[in-house]
Amino acid sequence: MEFIYIILALVLTGLLIFSVYFAKEKSISISLPRRIAVILLSVIAFSRYMIGRVAVFGVRGVNMYSPFGDNIPATVFAVITIWFVYAALFIIVFDELFDYGQLRNMARYFSVPVLLIALAGFPIYGVGIAGTEAFVGFNLSMLLCAIEIALGIAIVASRIVTEGYSKPSRSEIGKMLAVLPFAVISLMPIYAPQALIGFVDPALNTCGFSPEHRLTLYLSIAIPFVIFHALKNKDEQTKRTVMLYFCYALLWSYLANWEFADIKNPLCWPLHLCNTAMFLFPLCLTFKLEKIFNFCLFINVMGALLAALMPNISESANLLSSETVLFWINHYPAFFMPLLLVALKLFRRPKFKEWVYSLIAFSVYFVLILFINAWFSNYGSVDFFFLNSDFIAAKLGKWAEDTRSIVASFNIGELTFTFYPLYQALYFIVYVAVTVGIWFLYEILFASWDTSEDRRLRERDYKRMKKDLFKFLNGKSIHETISGDYSPRLILKNFSKKYGTNKHYSVNNVSFEVRGGEIFGFLGPNGAGKSTIIKSIVGIQTITSGSIEVCGYDVEKQPVQAKLTTGFVPDHYALYENLTGREYINYIADLYQVNKEYRDMMISKYVSLFQLTGSFDNQMKTYSHGMKQKITIMAALVHNPKVWILDEPLTGLDPTSIHEVKECMKEHAANGNIVFFSSHIIDVVEKICDRIAIIKKGKLRACVKVSELEEQGIELEKFYLDVINAADDEQPESKEQEAPISDEAAVTQ
Ligand code: ADP
Repeated sequence: MEFIYIILALVLTGLLIFSVYFAKEKSISISLPRRIAVILLSVIAFSRYMIGRVAVFGVRGVNMYSPFGDNIPATVFAVITIWFVYAALFIIVFDELFDYGQLRNMARYFSVPVLLIALAGFPIYGVGIAGTEAFVGFNLSMLLCAIEIALGIAIVASRIVTEGYSKPSRSEIGKMLAVLPFAVISLMPIYAPQALIGFVDPALNTCGFSPEHRLTLYLSIAIPFVIFHALKNKDEQTKRTVMLYFCYALLWSYLANWEFADIKNPLCWPLHLCNTAMFLFPLCLTFKLEKIFNFCLFINVMGALLAALMPNISESANLLSSETVLFWINHYPAFFMPLLLVALKLFRRPKFKEWVYSLIAFSVYFVLILFINAWFSNYGSVDFFFLNSDFIAAKLGKWAEDTRSIVASFNIGELTFTFYPLYQALYFIVYVAVTVGIWFLYEILFASWDTSEDRRLRERDYKRMKKDLFKFLNGKSIHETISGDYSPRLILKNFSKKYGTNKHYSVNNVSFEVRGGEIFGFLGPNGAGKSTIIKSIVGIQTITSGSIEVCGYDVEKQPVQAKLTTGFVPDHYALYENLTGREYINYIADLYQVNKEYRDMMISKYVSLFQLTGSFDNQMKTYSHGMKQKITIMAALVHNPKVWILDEPLTGLDPTSIHEVKECMKEHAANGNIVFFSSHIIDVVEKICDRIAIIKKGKLRACVKVSELEEQGIELEKFYLDVINAADDEQPESKEQEAPISDEAAVTQ
């Protein structure tokens, strides 16, 4: 009889492969039929699995209760082949449904050989599944097994026929071998340990673990961490595929103790929170169900944890018994899986509102379970959530048992509905309280996770920057300039800046050079990119590409040295306004390590120039806008910077203040320093600047000497408007952008 199934499988395989060849000859696409074949294979395998428990389920220690009697090799072959066939079929189905690299090779080099071995050993494989009656007359399970094997082989073969065969590289084989144990072990049947090893010690139940057994359990704590570290840097598709495989494998193992006949019996329904978790994880992952996932994260996790802390395994259960393995699968992954999925960023962290929704859903579910318990108790012993029995109360003590003495009961027709109002209300309150605790626990967990992740990333960046810096300095000290001496100069080379995820560059490929003694005006409409360039020069934002040099220092690689030579007046001052003007200037002078003598000299000079004598010792919050602006200017000049940068410094100042600031700028440049400032006040720019640059839409459009414009009789205002109003493509941008712009390379319209 067994040979009929083997021949059937072979003929079916042959026919299917022939059809694929035929379709290829006729150029008929078989991707849809193959998808249908995969779904058919899943349905058949699942149906066969749920028809009834396999015969080897009851085997203990290879030769006890085996359908093969004392034939140990046959028992071992059957247990392992049945197990590996599960993995082989899972791999084939996942390979077709998800395009994940390692599955393709596993389907070819693991699944097909395993299915062929099962076919070759069909007489043993069949008895392992259906028992000694397997080949006595027709057996539905055996027919389905033969079809499974044929479909499995044909699906893999059809891919080879249609997509061609290429030999995997050594690294591909290595990767496959690394992943394969995970794919196989996660489908280990719950009875495999007891069947292959047996009871370690008949007297040893779960309550009397030896240190070795405890160690085994503790080691299993590592599982989520191992999975996390293996997947954390993978792309989302890979993470999702692997976790889907894992969750469906868990569900498959969980269902080993179930059969179709159980569906009729409500007492066996998976309504316990740990049981529902087994179904909810794969569903949430498959259909990306965020809301239901939140229920798992807050409610199922607690259910699984509480149940694991109060195991309801029978006293006789051994570490290796299927009952213990099932209990482990049903509770431990149900506990860690939601957090693992959040850690892997497959689901986002829930908000407070979502926690409240989960709690409401739990309340509804709780009431439903109360009624289901009360209703089905008429037909047998039903005790979902252990709400009806004294299972939990007995563990808590007499006070808890006493709460069960208050009973409310009523009849509907012939049915009696019994409730324990006090006990069940207390149960609910405690569960809600624990869930409130869970919210805070998660908050703490997420916060500490973020902190450590942040630290890790910063340390990684720091190491990388340090390495880059050493390479960049090429043996020089960090205090040495990278080019030339320390004389005042500012050089932008092909500077570009793009913010965050913006598609467009805010500043694109800008180059220019400013030398000591120059007052350089920077003009352009709002949004042109002036502040962006200025902020990058002073080192308060990163550079996307290109480089900026200040007095020979690279602002990115030598930020401290570059900043020590720069003074900056931002477009919006931010002062510590509770300090007095004097305290603030002293604080800034301390930062720049300005000696007392020099700082006192600077302070008295600028206090009198800016007419701040009467207010310098008052808190800055009492100052007017102009006074605060003057304090900002003093703070920028207190260390006598070689490069003084000002972003729209004259905005909002009265004419006297504008005059004072202009005088400062002229004096600073006359001392051989650079004054670089942006402004919209063209008259002022024309009067005090030696050179100006015009920027529009992030590109440098012109860079000219003011004296040259004067010689040609062109007013700066007209020149500016011509540049700004010219169509973008009229302007010779590329020429200007490519090379650093020298004094002579003035652009005229
Ligand atoms: P300007 O100083 O010439 O008025 P900005 O340098 O402030 O111009 O802005 C140049 C461009 O960069 C604008 O399109 C602006 O929207 C964009 N930008 C400036 N700062 C940011 C930022 N922090 N994030 C995203 N885009 C920004």
